[in-house]
Amino acid sequence: MTLSRRSLLSGLAAVPVAGLASPTILRAASHSAAETAAAPTLPVAYHSFQIGSAKITALLDGHFLLNTGQINGFDQVQADATLEGSFYRIKDSEMSLPVNGYLVEQGGAVTLIDAGTADLFGPILGGLEAALRAAGKTPEEITTVVVTHLHPDHIGGLIAGDGTARFPNAEIIVGQGEYDFWHDDAVYAGVPQENRGFFDIARASVAPYADRLKMFEGEADVMTGLRSVPLPGHTPGHCGFMLETGAAPLLIWGDLIHSTALQFARPNWTLAFDMDPEQTVNSRTRMLDRAASEGLLVTGMHLDFPGLGRVERDGDAYAFDQAPWQFSL
Ligand SMILES: [Zn+2]
Repeated sequence: MTLSRRSLLSGLAAVPVAGLASPTILRAASHSAAETAAAPTLPVAYHSFQIGSAKITALLDGHFLLNTGQINGFDQVQADATLEGSFYRIKDSEMSLPVNGYLVEQGGAVTLIDAGTADLFGPILGGLEAALRAAGKTPEEITTVVVTHLHPDHIGGLIAGDGTARFPNAEIIVGQGEYDFWHDDAVYAGVPQENRGFFDIARASVAPYADRLKMFEGEADVMTGLRSVPLPGHTPGHCGFMLETGAAPLLIWGDLIHSTALQFARPNWTLAFDMDPEQTVNSRTRMLDRAASEGLLVTGMHLDFPGLGRVERDGDAYAFDQAPWQFSL
């Protein structure tokens, strides 16, 4: 299947069905001409750090504006208490939500974990490729792209504007269950026509890689030094990856946390795009607990850039001890 970017976007002009939120509910800040004129320049940001034998580079794709109305269980008083004394702000019921990808160079592999949004969400997102190039790598040099799940902010960057593979020399690694869900024709048939954008993007993004698609199930060594960690709930096959570095392992946890500002302190708050909220919270609390107990280094696709840190317990909730921009390990 080849879909043009235009037809993908028209498929996104949709409202959420139960548990299947459309990307349009995340407002990228420049949908109107007036906003476009005033839109800030997309920053190009990357940050590299070495852990053991692995060089990891955080790549900033950009920022969504998350409306607090899309947070299940949101309570303004509790939010104010959580944010008090911090730099975080809720302005006009919106908060900034970053989108990151991670480049891992280890052995001979040049691996990208999640590919950002490309042009699906407007001009304050889609910077991942520019960040990759600024970090000294081209899409042609990527040998593997590993995806945490098939949501558009993670796979939009897999394809170019004409629907061809953005990473012409890469194999794609994706969970079998995640792939199967988005390719299930019975599920697709049950989704109203106007809400099929997520499915169309998931299918179109992996289609150009059909002859170099590698699937895994459950906990598995998906490539040398990288093991899958199932974290279902946000999507049926959502998972993180544990990177073995020869020194401290690094857990790259995908969308386990969306809001650094709120969800460590309020792990029961889910988002409208968590397809199974109860399972989302179960996976989150189990993983946060393990990360805190083991002192794991963690990073994630919506943690505040560059997103490296450790989880701490804070009463019956958690906190994030983010590594500063300049640091040594
Ligand atoms: Zn996401």
